[in-house]
Amino acid sequence: MTLKSTQSPTHPCGFVSLVGAGPGDPDLLTVKALRLIQNAEVVVYDRLVSDEIMALVNSEAERIYVGKRLNHHCVAQDQINQVLVEQAQQNKQVVRLKGGDPFIFGRGGEELEKLASEHIPFEVVPGITAAAGCTAYAGIPLTHRDHAQSVHFITGHLKKEGMDIDWASLSKGNTTLVFYMGLKESPNIQQKLISAGLCQQTSIAIIERGTTSQQRVLTGELSQLSSLAKQAVSPSLIVVGSVTSLHSQLSWFR
Ligand code: SAH
Repeated sequence: MTLKSTQSPTHPCGFVSLVGAGPGDPDLLTVKALRLIQNAEVVVYDRLVSDEIMALVNSEAERIYVGKRLNHHCVAQDQINQVLVEQAQQNKQVVRLKGGDPFIFGRGGEELEKLASEHIPFEVVPGITAAAGCTAYAGIPLTHRDHAQSVHFITGHLKKEGMDIDWASLSKGNTTLVFYMGLKESPNIQQKLISAGLCQQTSIAIIERGTTSQQRVLTGELSQLSSLAKQAVSPSLIVVGSVTSLHSQLSWFR
């Protein structure tokens, strides 16, 4: 089920679909996402949406890129919110297309708050988040009765997100840790987990450009995390936990 705003618009206005595009492979789009991008009048998209997925967008639709600009600065979130509002107020069917799932480290909530405050109707279409998609394509089950009874999704943007991470609770073992946006902070992640008691020999994997034809999986031990991260390019996901040792046996995607 998707969420729908119930407030009625104060002026004639369009509709915004906040759509998750999945981690890269276009075959991982949901049927609903595909239908929406094929019928959209405007598609507002960012860096993580693959070219193959953009090729499926209605050819008549206006495409507005809000990823990195030439000077490598991200378009500010306020500006993105404003683009969505302005397009909807021009009575258009807008698709806000985001990599993975819009509500998992996607700032989808902030965009909807703005739309709600402007009384613009919207819906949310979930997508396959990188943690689910990339590990599946890497042959790494997130949980396994012999390895992990829980999974944590953690932002590697430790400073920007502000709040402190409870490293002790993450370092108890029997759990799988998935770090999004973690490459730059990998020395810190490695050091914090080991200091909090996680064994240095814990298996880890870095999944680079997961689910795409360029997917690469680097594996090693926690003590090697920061050196492996230096060899990886963005977007990459860091997975910490003994489930990653199954990659060599269960890997199937080439
Ligand atoms: N909303 C997205 C996450 C956005 S944060 C989702 O649900 O997947 C961006 C981070 O996601 C990247 O830095 C990387 O850690 C991860 N990521 C997204 N796509 C990825 C991919 N194809 N391969 C590896 N990591 C990916």
